[in-house]
Amino acid sequence: MYPQTPGRPYAEVIGDPIAHSKSPLIHGFWLRALGLEADYRAIRVAPDDLPAYFAARRDDPDWRGCNVTVPHKLAALTHVEDRGDIRGTIGAINLAMRAEDGALIGANTDAGGFYAPIASFDFAGKPVVVVGAGGAARAVLFALARMAVGPVTILNRTPLKGAALLSSFGLKGRALPLSAPLPPAALLVNASSLGMVGQPPLDLDLSPLPGDAVVYDLVYAPLETDLLAQANDRGLETVDGLEMLVAQAAVAFELLFGVEPPRERDDELRALLTA
Ligand code: NAP
Repeated sequence: MYPQTPGRPYAEVIGDPIAHSKSPLIHGFWLRALGLEADYRAIRVAPDDLPAYFAARRDDPDWRGCNVTVPHKLAALTHVEDRGDIRGTIGAINLAMRAEDGALIGANTDAGGFYAPIASFDFAGKPVVVVGAGGAARAVLFALARMAVGPVTILNRTPLKGAALLSSFGLKGRALPLSAPLPPAALLVNASSLGMVGQPPLDLDLSPLPGDAVVYDLVYAPLETDLLAQANDRGLETVDGLEMLVAQAAVAFELLFGVEPPRERDDELRALLTA
């Protein structure tokens, strides 16, 4: 365990495994840049230890809260008193915060983090393709519904999961297997694990996309996936997974530490994260 200085605020990211998490680098960079006397660290919490973790932390006034990653995003919901509308919407949390009285508030910053890098585009009424129907896709579809996009085509290994998501987010569209040809779309999002280090590649022919389409890959390891390389070759606008990762962390940082992170130093942060 880490020694903790009484009176010094801290936050954590919990998961199992956790060593790969980039959250300590991101939050640590912002804490140092702002000169804040606070810590952010990664803690491996096994699934069986989750109740004990929250029981201990909710009595610690220095603990501001924790980011929650795989495999706890669903299970952590049962430990927070205030779930907002998370259970009925995104269905998982990636942040738990401690209120003054020790009550825990759940939040999900992935939808806001997904939206931030494409906020300057107008996709209202336009067709969108989403690859994947897991936890990340839920946050993406939540954001797309709020953006009032046109029909959404979900391509997923298990198309039925995609169909269920379209219906639960009230989106019009269809769910197809990964082998289906890509329909024309203004925005293509990869929210699956395909293309990630150690996973099979995402094999898509991008030629049906118009020249002004945006291709957004949530995968950030590697940073330039084959999908983004193919989109760049075609001269399409691209957004990589690190942009979303930093944007969702920025929302969490402000909720945990009460100040906005210094986003004007994003270039330095990206250099640190890709070193
Ligand atoms: P998840 O809940 O496990 O979902 C994984 C998705 O990928 C499912 O749609 C699954 O299809 C599909 N998939 C996995 N292995 C596959 C294979 N071998 N062949 C075909 N399809 C496969 O994972 P997640 O939490 O949604 O994460 C998905 C990706 O998003 C990961 O790469 C993660 O790192 C990334 N992510 C990035 C950010 C960010 O801030 N940039 C945030 C969250 C997640 P089935 O439905 O058929 O199982």
